[in-house]
Amino acid sequence: MTCARCGRDISRDEAALCRKLINRGTTTFFCFECLAKDFKLRVEDLKEMIVRFREAGCTLFR
Ligand SMILES: [Zn+2]
Repeated sequence: MTCARCGRDISRDEAALCRKLINRGTTTFFCFECLAKDFKLRVEDLKEMIVRFREAGCTLFR
């Protein structure tokens, strides 16, 4: 899988976060940098979100 905007390879966590933030059935994925820009957040914020989702037991982040 690659970022739809910059073409960089994306990780499982990045793909899972796209599903969470965009929609569960999305076929369009973005890397942390491009997601952060779209949502006006920092990359660190996105990584913190993943930790929180995982702690909350979200099945997308196993
Ligand atoms: Zn990107």
